[in-house]
Amino acid sequence: MVTARPAVEGLPAYRPGRNPADLAREIGVDRAVKLASNEVAFPPLSAVVAAVAAAAGETNRYPDNGAVVLTAALAERYGVDPEQVATGCGAVTLCQELAQAYNDPGTSLAFAWRSFEMYPLLARVAGARAVQVPLTPGRPGGPADTHDLPALAAAIDESTRLVLVCNPNNPTGTAVRRGELVDFLDAVPADTLVVLDEAYREFVTDPDVPDGIELMRGRPNVAVLRTFSKAWGLAGLRVGYLLAEDPAVAAAVRKTHVPFSVSTLAQAAAVAALASEDEVRSRCAAVVAERERLTGALRERGLDVADSQANFVWLPVGEQAAPLAAALEARAVITRPFAGEGIRVTVGTPEEDDVFLAALDDARRDADLRG
Ligand SMILES: *Cc1c(COP(=O)(O)O)cnc(C)c1O
Repeated sequence: MVTARPAVEGLPAYRPGRNPADLAREIGVDRAVKLASNEVAFPPLSAVVAAVAAAAGETNRYPDNGAVVLTAALAERYGVDPEQVATGCGAVTLCQELAQAYNDPGTSLAFAWRSFEMYPLLARVAGARAVQVPLTPGRPGGPADTHDLPALAAAIDESTRLVLVCNPNNPTGTAVRRGELVDFLDAVPADTLVVLDEAYREFVTDPDVPDGIELMRGRPNVAVLRTFSKAWGLAGLRVGYLLAEDPAVAAAVRKTHVPFSVSTLAQAAAVAALASEDEVRSRCAAVVAERERLTGALRERGLDVADSQANFVWLPVGEQAAPLAAALEARAVITRPFAGEGIRVTVGTPEEDDVFLAALDDARRDADLRG
């Protein structure tokens, strides 16, 4: 019998979220609402649909492995050199490529916890140690759990090749501010790479939350990860990018790039999306307005919801997370529970969020009656 590496044998199997159509059929309703994966609810941009349709005629050929047109468009958009850019099959693949490029077995990878679920897996697959630094606990009625950057800096040692800072943090939605992030970057040794995972940057409204691309200037050990999956609406096409101050960082990531993994359709779609930035911005503004409405509605219900800088909100319901998510699912609303901690709810359309709020009221009333 063949066996996979122990690190791989020990990994949890991927459990896909519920498919809304299946759930609707199962519970006998017309439509279930999915607020589990932080996509935007808008349909793809019309320029994207047109670009994908046009590119479909070229799919007998391999994609451009260097993503030259997309790389140039990103370089222009962000005011960097194309040498500072690496594209990937979603930001998650870039995370994997980063770990492959920087983490030898025996080295470590540091990040806050709870944060993006992918991070611990990266370390395991690379044979590296995951150094997980607990978030600073929030207070009831105050800010939610957020990065403890001084503790994260203190956890870095000679073995730490890579540090991931998710800002705003998934799943808490909280963001670190400029001053504390600058202090942190100043404290990190020059031979440790810091990657600012800004998957939700486009939804940030607090002017004190820094743009990682500005912060990375003059810091050769800093890179920024962004994605087309969230604000830009291309989750199904898989494309993300890394911008690094030091072109050598982008080059290392390109060396571990899975060949041809950013498809022809994804590249064409991303270029078209970048050209539709005004439309993306107005969509983000609508998401932000709805985020504020949803946050207010949850607070009116006595729930302890922190200010989110992303396109989701975090309900720190602790042990109620799994039963509440199950109760919501029975009412045709799919959210993302983290057992024992909380529930992450993607900001949907106002109609979807109203369905969620009604399901939440009903589930809580039911729980009161039972107990
Ligand atoms: C969604 C997300 C990503 C990006 O995912 P891709 O779809 O692979 O681009 C990266 N980081 C965080 C924290 C995310 O939530």
